[in-house]
Amino acid sequence: RKRVFRFGSKSADGDSTMRNLLGGKGANLAEMSAIGIPVPPGFTITTEVCTEYNKLGEEATLKLIRKDVEQAIANIEKIMDTEFGNSENPLLISVRSGARVSMPGMMDTVLNLGLNDDVVKGLAAKTKNDRFAWDSYRRFIQMYGGVVLGMKPESKDDIDPFEEIMEHLKEKREIELDTQFTVQDLKDLVYDFKDIVKKRTGHDFPTDPWQQLWGAIIAVFNSWNGDRALYYRKMHGYPADWGTAVNVQAMVYGNMGDSSGTGVCFTRDAGTGENVFNGEYLINAQGEDVVAGVRTPRQITTLGSKRWAELAKINENERLVTYPSLEELMPTIYKELHGYQEKLEKHYRDMQDMEFTIQEGKLWILQTRNGKRTGAAMVKITMDLLKEGLIDEKEAILSIEPTKLDELLHPVFDTKALKRAHVIAQGLPASPGAATGQIVFFADEAHKFRHSILTRIETSPEDLEGMNIAKGILTARGGMTSHAAVVARGMGKCCISGAGALKISYKRRTLTVDGKVYHEGDWISLNGSTGNIIEGKVATSEPELSGEFGEIMKLADKYGTMEVRTNADSPKDAKVARNFGAKGIGLARTEHMFFEVDRIKTMREMILADTVKGRKHALEDLLPMQRKDFEGIFEAMDGHPVTIRLLDPPLHEFVPHQLATQKELAEDMHISLLAVKNKVAELQEFNPMLGHRGCRLGNTYPEITEMQTRAIIEAALNLKEKGIVSKPEIMVPLVGTLSEFMEQEKVIRETANKVFEEYEDTIDYLVGTMIEVPRAALMADSIAERADFFSFGTNDLTQMAFGYSRDDAGKFLPIYLEKGILTADPFEVLDQKGVGQLVKMGTERGRSTKPDLKVGICGEHGGEPSSVEFCYATGMNYVSCSPFRVPIARVAAAQAVL
Ligand code: ADP
Ligand code: MG
Ligand code: MG
Repeated sequence: RKRVFRFGSKSADGDSTMRNLLGGKGANLAEMSAIGIPVPPGFTITTEVCTEYNKLGEEATLKLIRKDVEQAIANIEKIMDTEFGNSENPLLISVRSGARVSMPGMMDTVLNLGLNDDVVKGLAAKTKNDRFAWDSYRRFIQMYGGVVLGMKPESKDDIDPFEEIMEHLKEKREIELDTQFTVQDLKDLVYDFKDIVKKRTGHDFPTDPWQQLWGAIIAVFNSWNGDRALYYRKMHGYPADWGTAVNVQAMVYGNMGDSSGTGVCFTRDAGTGENVFNGEYLINAQGEDVVAGVRTPRQITTLGSKRWAELAKINENERLVTYPSLEELMPTIYKELHGYQEKLEKHYRDMQDMEFTIQEGKLWILQTRNGKRTGAAMVKITMDLLKEGLIDEKEAILSIEPTKLDELLHPVFDTKALKRAHVIAQGLPASPGAATGQIVFFADEAHKFRHSILTRIETSPEDLEGMNIAKGILTARGGMTSHAAVVARGMGKCCISGAGALKISYKRRTLTVDGKVYHEGDWISLNGSTGNIIEGKVATSEPELSGEFGEIMKLADKYGTMEVRTNADSPKDAKVARNFGAKGIGLARTEHMFFEVDRIKTMREMILADTVKGRKHALEDLLPMQRKDFEGIFEAMDGHPVTIRLLDPPLHEFVPHQLATQKELAEDMHISLLAVKNKVAELQEFNPMLGHRGCRLGNTYPEITEMQTRAIIEAALNLKEKGIVSKPEIMVPLVGTLSEFMEQEKVIRETANKVFEEYEDTIDYLVGTMIEVPRAALMADSIAERADFFSFGTNDLTQMAFGYSRDDAGKFLPIYLEKGILTADPFEVLDQKGVGQLVKMGTERGRSTKPDLKVGICGEHGGEPSSVEFCYATGMNYVSCSPFRVPIARVAAAQAVL
């Protein structure tokens, strides 16, 4: 087994297809090296070694790789013509983490490794640059101390000991920036850093470069199981056994003076998807400085610099910082970089996010990856790449992350409301969207309010969880490539960064702009598309969908073979879903129609009636209301099929439980309060979900089924007179035996025939059933003899297959997920292994007696991409989901085919 893969000097052992083994970073470093991009030479220790380490521990693992690593270091030495640990001509290296998927900032990296008291002197002599050598040394001790020796602060109340020492010195010397330290300052810092390491760890800082290297490799492996990485993995559902690779690479130095620097760039705009090269850089700095938002970086392109200045016009100081662009300052380097970004985007056929470093006028590329982007950018970039001929239609569909489409469907600020809005400051439009919420200043307090805006000087990887909870993110410092900006775009969360006019005090928990003070809990709004920060709340409205969005949907329908329907109970929802492309309704829940104020009373009268006659009387009043509902829905669906489920919930849900409402009802019905109370008590069930509900209602009170059928058929016939086609599919819920179904079917068909006679006209309709009781799946062959269609109600099916009450699962499911007893919430993601068997069996057995049986799904799972794929594989005719999930399901349905 090969455990160490080399790259550099225009060749490599690995390539970009090997990301599972080499991690994304390692695979792309190898690929770039092979296609002639200038990458500092190095090697990758595979993710498999990480897994081995987790089993075998440190000593055994190092034994496995020691020889290979030593030889690979020798290879770097040969290419760079330097020597690791040699104090006259030293090689310094970086030790970088890199999992198969990019987890920005979640794991650890150590730079400038190989320095000690002798080597630093040699480095200074060789480069004739004392400042650079000592700056690198102090950075190294700081990073190594944090990452390998465990001296990173653990909570927000903890102070980073190294930062503290630096702040102290800055105060003493009355300076603000790291770059203002003198060589003597840096030497003092190194001395103090080593001192604090000794105090905290009880050991001297390791001076042997090899010992440093082994320590760093193990630390990177450990960072795979660090808190940040764990949380990120959980959020995205990445399994623990993927592991991280370790990339060891020759250092190139961006901190060698004014002809050196470092930066991050994107081949397209990650926020909007616009095809413009953009990015940020810092002169005389090392990698981390840009992302950490320590200094506000400058723009790479002149166009970007102009746009930035326009946005920052409210702050003259900040504007000065944005000039000059790299394009103006180092035109030759810029041209070279521009060439590489073009080459890399063509090569990878996707938007790239790159890191680069300039060492004394020479450009090096340190990383490239498919860039994280917002939902809007994803749609635009995909369609643009298709039009540019870089990808084909199938690749376009497959490159869409269905759930990210959700971002595009959410409300945006109402344009009229925006005109009246009071803009208090402006920052960079780091991630588009609209967010309104209450100010919080600490990530671990983001849950304090239902809608919070995380407001910080800058964010760091520790803040991930809070950023995920917050509705929007606002920072005073950092550019478009700062941690806050990158992470927010990845989450599709609204973010404004680098709003220099904000003065934030963590201690007082205040935000001050132009003398006005805002406190924790105050409402603000962020317009992530313009960078405007607005006082108070702003009204929102429906978003307008871009042309590219429509094009993606069209493509999806071209390749998708499964129909996508919607779950809708009202004409309004039906219309929304039609606009999103729903090809019918897979589930109209009739009970929702009864909860409207003027109807619930009649409904209660029906339930409280003691006699069939009394019940029928109330049902007569309900009939015209139901009929009107169905007319509205049929009309909205304009000839597409509509599946209507007969009354399903236990009647207990409809009766009043509060004394006041019970009194009111008693008066309205001219009966005693006691009678009402008795009836309510009578309806009480020990286990309502398994009680008197579903077709059990229709079978005990057939007059309800009768009324509902009449309303459906009359509505369809009324519309027919107006020339509108309706295709009702009447669905009997919670069937477990064939006779249960047949009893209901008889009532339905008899009623329909009666209505046909009365109208002297007919329409086509179907009578089918939901498969949601496990027994129905087992008996599907016999049920299919009578049923025209099956619709899998996977909510109830999951509930009954697991025996988890949906209403009580909140008490134990979170713990099950935490402990790994379950890997996903089965009510969210269909349990394909278990519940999926019932779905498969039900479909197969059903079709064994009725080969053309129409089969669909109408649980929450109908809009969840992996479940949609499963439904396709099972041979379903359609999936049905809530209106806002229809676009997601359409893309997922197309992806299932490809
Ligand atoms: P992350 O995955 O968190 O981005 P990286 O491994 O990419 O961590 O490294 C962090 C920073 O250090 C990046 O800006 C990167 O460009 C820089 N860096 C890493 N290796 C080197 C190197 N060999 N020479 C110069 N800079 C480096
Ligand atoms: Mg990186
Ligand atoms: Mg159900």
